Parts: sequence; C-alpha cells; structure tokens
Amino acid sequence: MRFARFAAVAAALLATAAVAQPDRVAMEPANPWHQKAREIYARAISIPTVQGRGRMTELANYLQEQFRAGGLTDVTVRPYDVTLPDDHTAALTLRWPAARPSGRKAILLMAHMDVVDARREDWSREPFELGAADGYFYGRGTADDKQGVVAITMALLRLRAEGFAPDRDILVLFTGDEETGGDGARLAANEWFDVATIDFALNADAGGGAYLADGTPLGFGIQTAEKVYQDFTFTATNPGGHSSRPRPDNAIYALAHTLERLERYRFEPMQNETTRAMLADRVRNAEPPLAAAIRAWLANPNDGAAADVIEASPTEVGLTRTRCVATMLSGGHAPNALPQQAQANVNCRMFPGHDPARVLAILREIAGPDNVAVEPVREARPADASPLREDVVGAFTAEIHARHPGVAIVPQMSTGATDGLYFRNRGVPVYGVESGWGISPTDERAHGRDERNPQRSFYENIDHWVGMIRRLAGPAR
Ligand SMILES: [Zn+2]
Repeated sequence: MRFARFAAVAAALLATAAVAQPDRVAMEPANPWHQKAREIYARAISIPTVQGRGRMTELANYLQEQFRAGGLTDVTVRPYDVTLPDDHTAALTLRWPAARPSGRKAILLMAHMDVVDARREDWSREPFELGAADGYFYGRGTADDKQGVVAITMALLRLRAEGFAPDRDILVLFTGDEETGGDGARLAANEWFDVATIDFALNADAGGGAYLADGTPLGFGIQTAEKVYQDFTFTATNPGGHSSRPRPDNAIYALAHTLERLERYRFEPMQNETTRAMLADRVRNAEPPLAAAIRAWLANPNDGAAADVIEASPTEVGLTRTRCVATMLSGGHAPNALPQQAQANVNCRMFPGHDPARVLAILREIAGPDNVAVEPVREARPADASPLREDVVGAFTAEIHARHPGVAIVPQMSTGATDGLYFRNRGVPVYGVESGWGISPTDERAHGRDERNPQRSFYENIDHWVGMIRRLAGPAR
C-alpha cells in the first residue's frame, strides 16, 4: 500500500496565488547520513524482494549488519512461512532499549521490505537497480516501501551515532509479506512483540504528501485508519439437468440476480473522527456540488442522500461506508448442462468499527431470495480508527511544516489495507507518518511501471524520521 489520497483539484483552483514549487532537480547528498542512506537504498532496491523469489532474508541480513555496525545490536532476522503464495519469507525486528527510562511505553516503527514484482520488459529501465534521472530515483520499491525501510534504518543509525538517549524503548518491525499476506505483521502483533508494552506505532507505509505539477500543494496525510479487508463467497447450487429442458430454478441466474441486488445495495453511511477531518479538508477544493454535499453530511450525519452524493464521486468513493463488490465469477460444468453450481467472490472493505457479523448478515439478506449461500473467506480482523493523538499529530505537523511550510495536514483513512491493521486489531494505535511526496498523478506509480521517488523527497524523509523519533522518544521538549 502506498500513496496518500489527495483528490485531483478543480481547474479553477489552479489559478490561486503562487506557491513554492517543490524542487525536483537532481540532488547530491547533503551530508554523510544522506550519502549512507543512498548507499543502503541502492542495495535494498537491487535485491528483488518479491514473494516467491526467496531473497527476503538477504535484505534482512544486510540491514541487520548495518544496525549492528552502528551499535544497535538487539536485532533479529525472523524467517517465517506465509499462507499465500505457498512460500517462506523473513522479517526483521529490533529493540533499542531506553537509555533513560521515563516509564513511557515503547514506540514501534514499521515498514515492509517486500515489493510487488516488476518485469524488465514492462519497464523503460532495469526495475531492480537504483536509477537516478531528472531529479528522481527510479526502481521497484523506491516509493513502496523501501524508502520507508531506509528512512527508519538511517534515522536510527544517525541518532545512535549522535548519542541520542531514548527515554522509552524503540522497536522496529520490517515485514516480508505486506503486499501478499500480512502474516509477518500478524505474527509480530500476536507473538513477536508484547503489544501491552507498546504505546503506538508509526508506519512508514502510509501517510505522505502530494503536489500538482505546477507546485500547488495538495496536502500531507497522516493515516489513522484503514478499511478492513474481507472476502465472501456467494454460492448458488442446483440439482442441474439437461440444458434442453430449462427450469425456472438455475444456479447461474440465481447468482446473477443476487449480484444485481448487491450492485444496487448501499450500506448505511458512517463517519469517524478521521473521515470527518478528511472530508472537511476536501471542501477547500471540491467542485461546488460535492462541497455542498460534504457540508450537508458533516452538519447532519443522518443525511444519507448527501452521503450518497459523496460516495458517488470517483475521488471520494469508499470513504462514506462499507463497500462490497463482485470480483470473481465461475459456474457451470458443461455447455449442454444446467449448472449445478455458480460462485462469485465478493470483496468487502468494511468501515472501521463496522461489525463483520453485521456485514455478513446483510449480505445473507441480499442473497436470501435466491437461496444463495454466503460465507466469509478467512476470518476478518476488525480494527478501529486510531485516535488523533496530540503528541503524534503535533510531531508530524511540526516535521512536515519544517520542510513544507503551511501545507495542509490531513488525517486519512486508507480504503486499502497495510500491516498497521494487525496492530490496530490488537488495540495498538497506528499512524502512517511517512513524509515522502510526489507529483499527483504522474508520480503515483507504486506497484506500477517506472516507480519513482523525487530525490528531494527521499532525503527529506530521512530527516523527517530523525525529527519524529527525537520528538516522540526523546525527553520532553
Ligand atoms: Zn506498501
């Protein structure tokens, strides 16, 4: 998962007063820390940590060496098996014990080492080699999420070298299957760490900012919530028969009718602290009809018609409620036979706090008239939105504004899922606080072709994490 969602802005707004153009010229490392960060980045990008290629341990071992060489010695490489695809991978965990214990619980810094696959023939350059051109770094993972891995690593190495004395334990988790499963995060939240000792987590796989090509800042997001992923199978069964003698009951038609009802169905609109802040921010630059709907719904959460207008906007879809959509379909066993079975996969993204049992009950109501059976695939991991804590939001705002004065800071709910879900599920608040930014939409290439990260964004993100850790794990300031 990667890239904060900032809706494209109405053209009329682009004529607003001149704003600082983000500098995208090539940058040389400003100091030895940046130099070292670039070196670690290059190595990390060169290892194709794609699920199934068996290279995760290599990256984890390399990072472990870096930490140890820098004096952070309580670091463990943890091989683990993953559910899908059938494979094994590795995670890295680290503990930097408090030098001056304040009694505050630990903070956890998290990122993921795995990347989505990339084929040379699909790219204009070698995907698993750090490229530098036009003020950008290129390569698979330059944005999602090796910039996060490198920033956390480099920030800790720098702080340690400079004699920083944390007043609480600092924990690190780099997982090896975020893109494909999340088993590393699940194991970490349930077995590797005692979550009772963790105050909150900072996730480098979410947050971040966006600019338009002309330099207009769209804002920087701090991710505090994500929707909950859950698949369901819809199965219609039937005794079948010879296709020369059609009957009113038919598995394919039964499923089709159910899916038509599902297509039209809308769950009850929901709001939380984060989506309210997110939508309030959207009023700044939404087209008038959308802005009016947002104002109406924020003023009256029972105004379902206004929520429907917001949900129908392609830029806001998914923000107002649980959404379910048919994603796969199969059925029948012969061209000349009445089908004995038809099945669809329905993928739901549940609003935080929406009870999965309630969602299942509604889906069963929708399927009931056609006797279509609805079953959940794997167990859902419900997770509430994390509260907008003053200390974390304050630290994020201060660090972003140090490098991007005056930009809007916007709490965000992702409609996709990250590793953070597993910690929220266990009661640990998680904040996506990456500072990496790009030009919207041209730089939104995570998982795609020619993934890239502005060089300035990369170096700034190192300093951002140094600042975040100082503020949140250092003596009160
Ligand atoms: Zn990611």
